[in-house]
Amino acid sequence: MKNFMPRLLLPILGVALYAATDFNAEGNRWWSHIQYLANDDMKGRNTGSSEHLKAARYVAGEFERSGLKPAGTSGYFQPVKFDVKQIVEDQSSLALVRSGKKQALVLGDDATLSLRGDIQDSTEAGAVFIGYGLQVPEKKYDDLAGLDLKGKIAVYLAGGPSSIPGPLKAHYQSAGERWKYLKAAGVVGIATIQNPKSMDIPWSRARLARFMPAMSLADPSLDETQGLRLSITINPERADKFFAGTGHTISEILADADGDKPLPHFALASSVVAHVQLKKSEVESQNVAGMLPGSDPKLKNEYVVMTAHLDHVGVGEPINGDSIYNGAMDDASGVASILEISRMLHESNARLKRSIVFVTVTAEEKGLLGSRYFAAHPTINEKNIVADINLDMFLPLHSLHYIEVQGLAESTLGDEIRAAASEAGVEVQADKEPQRNLFIRSDQYNFIR
Ligand SMILES: [Zn+2]
Repeated sequence: MKNFMPRLLLPILGVALYAATDFNAEGNRWWSHIQYLANDDMKGRNTGSSEHLKAARYVAGEFERSGLKPAGTSGYFQPVKFDVKQIVEDQSSLALVRSGKKQALVLGDDATLSLRGDIQDSTEAGAVFIGYGLQVPEKKYDDLAGLDLKGKIAVYLAGGPSSIPGPLKAHYQSAGERWKYLKAAGVVGIATIQNPKSMDIPWSRARLARFMPAMSLADPSLDETQGLRLSITINPERADKFFAGTGHTISEILADADGDKPLPHFALASSVVAHVQLKKSEVESQNVAGMLPGSDPKLKNEYVVMTAHLDHVGVGEPINGDSIYNGAMDDASGVASILEISRMLHESNARLKRSIVFVTVTAEEKGLLGSRYFAAHPTINEKNIVADINLDMFLPLHSLHYIEVQGLAESTLGDEIRAAASEAGVEVQADKEPQRNLFIRSDQYNFIR
């Protein structure tokens, strides 16, 4: 952990580091937060759990010790309400019907049922493969053009052509944006196939997550998936079951995708029949916010928000015999950094021109929900938020030589971060794996929106 303290971020905040810094001591202090937050006792800090609440109290206590002003709606806390859904899989089913013959699919092996959406008990509908299923007006790209999708299930391959820049492509693949135009076309359900080349974890492990509770914001005005009756994730290795009778195969489609050729669009020969049994409940969980007021009479009304997510995914199916998903790197590392940055600013008596609002958000793992709520209901004047710096799961495996910045070319802060990094001797690099959609996969995305 030596030399790991985020030296880069301090120049961004306009603080000169004193030469006498003991990096070992700083590293140990940073690590102590992670030890607390990611300990087995904290059971993976699932959104709405008592352990997450305990973690939120720890953060609030550290904020207070660092002299931050409470910036929640209830002290440091901004409570957020969630609807929770869990699948009862042995009472749920998925099948394909072709020429009157029904073929049952094995949930977990052939496909899984996703719970994000306005999921209905039963759905029966025809299906159409629509390539990447993208509509990108900026690039005049439209996979939906000329197709009759009314009442249909849209089947698509995640990703997109290389002609669309990564962040734009990621934006139009986000759940909310995608559903907006599919819904307008009359689609009732979606079925996603991941390209194995860009899957973060293999199907054998991804399938375990299907028993985890899914959540959505209870605030109906923030529900972006109204009308989405059914959401399926297809195992790419079994996708040919869906394509049977069409003359198309998944290997042909993947070869086209990998060769950056246009994908075919065609109706499936089978219709899809699904029964989904859900167990529903409600929980509340907390965003935690503290403010360091700025010192400039005018600029103090501008806010730089610094975010990291406090939740992880809790306890689940065991992996190598361990059922606690501790979330040390994801994202206790980011939270620890926020706590240490606020402490160092406090102890050095830093006078920053702008106000800094430190926020640990909840429910990132449930679909960036805590930050969505904060961005929709900010506890500070939204118009005056000039930047969000989000830290999620950086890998402290060696001293800091380079930093990857999502949205580097899109943000007006691109030049500032280059300047700050070069001062710290750190190389800035843009996203090298745009196909992983990291641009939309953590809390910064809600501030971008
Ligand atoms: Zn994360």
